[in-house]
Amino acid sequence: MESVSQIIHARWLITGEQNNQTLENHAIVIDQGKIKAILPSKQATERYTATDIQRFPNHVISPGFVNTHTHIAMNYFRGLADDLALMDWLNHHIWPAERTWVSQEFVRDASQLAIAEMIRSGTTCFNDMYFFLQATAEVADQAGIRANIGMTVIDFPTAWAKDTAEYFSKGIEFYSEYKNHDRIKATVAPHAIYTVAEPTLLKVKEIAEKYDLKINMHVHETADEINQSIATTKQRPLRRLQNIGLVTPRLIAIHMTQLDDEDMAIIEAGKPNIVHCPESNMKLASGACPVVALQKQGLNVALGTDGAASNNDLNMLGEMRSANFLAKLVTQNPIALPAHETITMATLNGAKALGLDHITGSLTVGKAADFIATKLDEIETLPIYHPASHLVYAASRNQVTDVWVAGKQLMKKRKLLTLDEKEIKAKAIYWSKKLTKNA
Ligand SMILES: [Zn+2]
Repeated sequence: MESVSQIIHARWLITGEQNNQTLENHAIVIDQGKIKAILPSKQATERYTATDIQRFPNHVISPGFVNTHTHIAMNYFRGLADDLALMDWLNHHIWPAERTWVSQEFVRDASQLAIAEMIRSGTTCFNDMYFFLQATAEVADQAGIRANIGMTVIDFPTAWAKDTAEYFSKGIEFYSEYKNHDRIKATVAPHAIYTVAEPTLLKVKEIAEKYDLKINMHVHETADEINQSIATTKQRPLRRLQNIGLVTPRLIAIHMTQLDDEDMAIIEAGKPNIVHCPESNMKLASGACPVVALQKQGLNVALGTDGAASNNDLNMLGEMRSANFLAKLVTQNPIALPAHETITMATLNGAKALGLDHITGSLTVGKAADFIATKLDEIETLPIYHPASHLVYAASRNQVTDVWVAGKQLMKKRKLLTLDEKEIKAKAIYWSKKLTKNA
């Protein structure tokens, strides 16, 4: 008998690899945070012993979700302003609120709320773009979740930085502080083409190449963005980004709802990663990312919720359902984006976009033990024919009961093990009172 750290037995196990595999009565054998073996439960019991052995007789175990686009501290703006177009929403509601309220303390407290919400809905890795990067990173570190945190760059002052140079210097300071962290990584995050000028984007490119970092950017989010770009430069944003040399696999292009033939050719040549945020795009009536057409071109399409102010949750189960239904509606094809491909989009494709697919995104021997258990023997998901179908089409996030990142259990039977739920709720109420008092 070989001694290992943990053995997790599952009634169903979705590996999340492209082979569309659902295993039955299998176990994940974990040692020192990594997946050592996946094998039938009976064999696991014969070969391995562990002090932590857990059984999930009514659950499906699957890779944790990779939420590939978030602004997690915006959880404190959830429900503050709805039913508006993007620019109206940003100019008259979100940006003024951010100017007044965003601080180190705000970001720390709001990040706790968001990370608690993400763990409670099965997210094990997120890709963030916001301010006060250390505040979010410290919470992510303590919570045990995996995080990519964007060095935000925007050509106007915020509470975080007074000018472009300060965004860069603070970003690089953050990068240096976390470059050897095992779960927390930096990216460069220019906000969008309408808020970041071309000289700044050139600097973004230089820094991303120097430190070998991914570049996160909102690209072709709305028709307004395209029209504004054409009016001022006679070129669509993607053409301008291509001219700067930014359309490469290093780019994580978020939204991409407005794509014509010229854009598609640029993307096909440059092979950026794409993040689809269907709920935010639907809520702001921005448009729909042509996921199926992009996948046909062999492009990597990941899934993100965007911030909770435009979604209004950080629920990747719901996001999968929306992505799936929207793909079918847009293509008028019920075969588009099958359930297992939707799961891959929400897990492995996100890891690929972040350059983390050698570490996470699927249940594969040698990768980190980042996975979740979802209880299926509930009224809402009985009977059970195909667990992958239930994950995408029927399960609610309350059915996610247990979550692990790098083998560490972050939630057990719906109880958060690394965050204080009571304190997080009290702080959210405290901040909401502050925010509304001045309104
Ligand atoms: Zn966004």
